[in-house]
Amino acid sequence: MSFQIRGCHSSERVIFNVVNFSKTKSLYRDGMSPVVKSTSRPKWQRLPAKNVYYYRCPDHRRNYVMSFAFCFDREDDVYQFAYCYPYTYSRLQHYLASLERRNLPYLQRDQLGLSVQQRRLDLLTITNSDHQSPEREKKLVFLTARVHPGESPASFVCQGVIDFLVSQHPVAQVLRDHVIFKIVPMLNPDGVYLGNYRYDEVSGGFVVVPWRVSLEFYIDVHAHSTMLNGFMYGNVFEDEERVQRQAVFPRLLCQNAPDFSFSNTSFNRDVVKAGTGRRFLGGLLDDTSYCYTLEVSFYSYMTAGSTATVPYTEETYMKLGRNVARTFLDYYKQNNFIKDNRPTHIQNSEVTSQTGSSNGKVGVVGRDSSDREKEKSIRH
Ligand SMILES: [Zn+2]
Repeated sequence: MSFQIRGCHSSERVIFNVVNFSKTKSLYRDGMSPVVKSTSRPKWQRLPAKNVYYYRCPDHRRNYVMSFAFCFDREDDVYQFAYCYPYTYSRLQHYLASLERRNLPYLQRDQLGLSVQQRRLDLLTITNSDHQSPEREKKLVFLTARVHPGESPASFVCQGVIDFLVSQHPVAQVLRDHVIFKIVPMLNPDGVYLGNYRYDEVSGGFVVVPWRVSLEFYIDVHAHSTMLNGFMYGNVFEDEERVQRQAVFPRLLCQNAPDFSFSNTSFNRDVVKAGTGRRFLGGLLDDTSYCYTLEVSFYSYMTAGSTATVPYTEETYMKLGRNVARTFLDYYKQNNFIKDNRPTHIQNSEVTSQTGSSNGKVGVVGRDSSDREKEKSIRH
């Protein structure tokens, strides 16, 4: 999913041809472009879309070719190109190590096992274990990412979820009191390391710990190569009431996340289609669990009432994750599992970035009219 070029000549113009794409529909047709960085400019940037072409090519058995033009400007630089912002196995390991160093009492990192090639399969558990509610057992939310190793946006979303849940944000504190979050941030570490795009086998073969709490949510995070926005796939149910119940979480998420589209969310497709999440879960799911695939576009999103697409950045992917996390409070308040006795300004608060910060400073902003506009346009 990425490659490096060194030893170029300055002002050398090159056309790269990436061959053997099979999909007719591609975000390259909607303005997506590869990302580039170089030694002297280490931040990933998207190439201008006008330099990118996606077309069927007779020389490649009529498969598609993506070509892009690039002009090198510094001889000493090493240039790196990628399909989307990379999120590598080592990046995850550094991130998890930095979390561990904070010694948070409500965060536990376990090794579920090692992959075939001896990489760690990490499991995070986030909950306030000092808080035991005598009358109700805690709910269990389970989240996984990168079963498809090429889908790096899923890792940014997943990190956003984790960042939020371990933060000092009041919503995160309430959630930790009532919910146990179990997160496997990289289900396929070998595939990620080797740079495979899709490889459906979970390499490792480990046993899922039998958790003695009711699993209420399972969310498997993916990235989508042809659709815009964040959206979800759910299960097919005969029971209309259950279909409605399943729609509650995505509807609430749509109110919280400007880039999440409820209209793209569909429940008439089996989530198993998108991955192996449920097989991975074995017998943990029952009638009262909800199982979703959360998809996020490799490229961009469109907010309600706008026709312009906004390309995702690492930061906006993470923001989607933070919004997913805080939506659990809305969900559990709506069904009265969590009784709300906190000031109202927290209820629908906007969470600003706090990546990498350990001071727990988080901006709290109320909902504005554009949110309500969005809700209206979604319902119609
Ligand atoms: Zn996928």
